[in-house]
Amino acid sequence: MGAGHSVVAVDNFITGSPDNLRQLDGHPQFRFIQADVTQPGWDAGIAAEQFEYVWHLASLASPVDYLKYPLETLETGSTATRNLLEVARRCRAAFLVTSTSEVYGDPLEHPQTEQYWGNVNSIGPRSCYDESKRFAEAITMAYHRVHGVRTAIARIFNTYGPRMALNDGRVVPAFVDQALRGEALTVFGDGSQTRSFCYVSDLVEGLIRLMHSGFHEPVNLGNPAEMTMLQFAESIQAKTGTQSRIVFRPLPQDDPKRRRPDITRAKQVLDWEPQVPFDEGMALTIEYFSSLVPA
Ligand code: UDP
Repeated sequence: MGAGHSVVAVDNFITGSPDNLRQLDGHPQFRFIQADVTQPGWDAGIAAEQFEYVWHLASLASPVDYLKYPLETLETGSTATRNLLEVARRCRAAFLVTSTSEVYGDPLEHPQTEQYWGNVNSIGPRSCYDESKRFAEAITMAYHRVHGVRTAIARIFNTYGPRMALNDGRVVPAFVDQALRGEALTVFGDGSQTRSFCYVSDLVEGLIRLMHSGFHEPVNLGNPAEMTMLQFAESIQAKTGTQSRIVFRPLPQDDPKRRRPDITRAKQVLDWEPQVPFDEGMALTIEYFSSLVPA
């Protein structure tokens, strides 16, 4: 909207929150429709609209959430992707789908380039997410090849920042919430597994550049700064000044051991790389969560 566009947003709030849209109440360039993009008739409110861009950002993104709603997660990667590709085809709009580093599964190559095909357990508890995102990539490429839709595929690595749900179970809100409440930080396994965290504003900039790039093959978007979950827990202890100790809990099944994006392609194609250092992004995130957790 800052660039002059009008936006229609659709969400069923299965995990999202209306609070995050309050700032847009009454905005002349914004319209919101509460609907489920996987269900017939979801598009009744937009059937006559002509769009220039279609952004398929919908999905449950936390392992805790998609384990709770595996069927909805599968539908959002499959049926919803097809529904939104049809909107793009009808409108001759550019289309972007948010895929995931989970297409690499528990990767046997490190760091992960877009050329790596992945190591996914197709029947495990995470498969509802991983396989539906892999299907989303496949149908997006098929619409590009068969119908000539201008498509883009972002493979998003772990992202964090203000407005994440405090209780969504992912490691960033979990540790910050536990630290602010003085509860023990729950490290899963021995904490040697790694992740690489990207601040939300960097990700958004990458998505916008990708939408406008005309590049249709997948592009990794993430921050290559990798750390173990034990290091992450210790950094949250230090940054919040909490007295909380660290406790170890069982590692969930199929939890990827290492994850770090190779962002060579994003640098070359989009002239993009993350700008926000971990310390700065985490300070903003802790400040946000502090406003939600009673001191
Ligand atoms: N994790 C953890 N404690 C928690 C929540 C998550 O140690 O309370 C670990 C989890 O096992 C994984 C990493 O943190 O190795 C990132 O988990 P998250 O759910 O944020 O996302 P994922 O990268 O697995 O999709």
